[in-house]
Amino acid sequence: MNWKALAERLLPGKYPSPEDYEAKYPPRDLPEKAEVTRLAPSPTGFIHLGNLFAAIANERIAHRSGGILYLRIEDTDLKRKVEGAVEAVIKALHYFDIEFDEGAEIGGDETYAPWYQRQRAEIYRAFAKRLIEEGRAYPCFCTEEELAALREEQTAKKEIPGYYGKYARCRDLSEAEIYARLDAGKPFVIRLRSLGNPENKIKFRDAVKGEITVTENDQDVVILKSDGIPTYHFAHAIDDHFMRTTLVIRGEEWLASLPIHIELFDALGFARPRYGHNCSLMKQDGETRRKLSKRKDPELSLEFYRKEGYFPRAVKVYMLTLLNSNFEEWYLKNPEAPLTEFPFKVEKMGKSGALFDLDKLNDISKNELAKLSQEEMAAFLKGWAEEFGSEAQKAYFADEEKLLRALALCMGVGGKKRRKDFTTASQAMNFIAYFFERLPRTDEYRVAPGEKRAILTEFLETYCFADDAQIWFGKVKAIAGAHGFAADMKDYKENPQTYKGSVADVAEVLRIATTGKANTPDLWTIMQILGEQEVRARIGEAVNE
Ligand code: GLU
Repeated sequence: MNWKALAERLLPGKYPSPEDYEAKYPPRDLPEKAEVTRLAPSPTGFIHLGNLFAAIANERIAHRSGGILYLRIEDTDLKRKVEGAVEAVIKALHYFDIEFDEGAEIGGDETYAPWYQRQRAEIYRAFAKRLIEEGRAYPCFCTEEELAALREEQTAKKEIPGYYGKYARCRDLSEAEIYARLDAGKPFVIRLRSLGNPENKIKFRDAVKGEITVTENDQDVVILKSDGIPTYHFAHAIDDHFMRTTLVIRGEEWLASLPIHIELFDALGFARPRYGHNCSLMKQDGETRRKLSKRKDPELSLEFYRKEGYFPRAVKVYMLTLLNSNFEEWYLKNPEAPLTEFPFKVEKMGKSGALFDLDKLNDISKNELAKLSQEEMAAFLKGWAEEFGSEAQKAYFADEEKLLRALALCMGVGGKKRRKDFTTASQAMNFIAYFFERLPRTDEYRVAPGEKRAILTEFLETYCFADDAQIWFGKVKAIAGAHGFAADMKDYKENPQTYKGSVADVAEVLRIATTGKANTPDLWTIMQILGEQEVRARIGEAVNE
């Protein structure tokens, strides 16, 4: 077989040589131990927690070593471009402080551009042609129907599906057969001629999992599709080489493709980057643990965290807790430190499934938000509200002083212990809503309607906005006493049967009338923040409700 002539027929024209490409994409000028890592998503428009998990690891490794994190878009499989998908990836990761040094829609050092695989057609063809010339790749004319029939046959015989060994029908076509098909204008793909044998096991050092054993590849995988577009496997090998990637951290679902990647790198004559396969994120579902699912678990999508208004640092802290076994201990010792100071290590990454628990994240979120000042909290909420808030919620920011006072109270700023009532921005905005809106009551009065009316009316008669907390409370106590409620908690506890209830029950009536809720921070302060007019208006409405 004259492979050179066949290569020219299949991919006519002159292409740069491997040496040309080596010169065009030279090794990066970086310090010795600097790692070049990447994120290489398909632009499907869906970016998930697993992507963030890998992104944090790649970002930390690159930047702690003085290296580069770049964004490459693997759009070879895409029939249709998903509008805005790349921007969505960048935005979703930016929320968690993941910034790329270069890449699609980012720019940066143009030496390794372009970062969209569809714009790199020439280089893939050049190397495909090279492989054909060397007899390591060949044209395959099998149609979709033939391949489907092959799969059926293999399934019926309980054989491994795919295009390999005796099933690789076009592998040993004669020169005459090939040219006859080409002359007849039959479409073709280019396949790798695998030299592997599945009986052979390869020992492989995975940067995360340590020493693993994989089976040699024997599949004649497609490297160029009939439209000349490469497959992901082929394109990623060429790109990781020429973009000078040193370490690939990716999800363990790619472990199954590793033998193909190993063979491709060898066939292309490239040194491989190191690979580390990150464990999958699991969810406890009753008795079993399963992978997070796109259909069942909204928390898989990164969009979920932005929409709910999760505090980015909280999500990051949780991800780091799952990613590095010594993070939790470090964080206990350094609760205020920038997370970038944590000595992230590939060797400390978990080898098997990490359990992702939303309740745990919520606990971390409460702790993280309780570290903020009211000003920081306001800024965080504002950012969320501008994008996701209702018109009414956006208006909370009009009176900044009021907002800060409300937040300080709800967060327990200046108190003995900070309150931990806030979990996310959306929840916090609902929590503080009563300061800004008259909302329908969510809790029921526990006293009879007549009693409620009397308590509220008497309160309005004696209410004076200038009263300090003590005088104010004295008046509430007086109302309690006048209505058969114990003014003093101690008296009530000693002789509960003598009273209808205690001053706490009276305060609850006032609280529900003012805020709609039976549980709030200090009511006197709430009234101070609301202002006299508003307090009188709300209680006045509640009298007749
Ligand atoms: N394009 C693949 C993806 O969508 C990337 C796999 C890899 O990192 O090698 O996840």
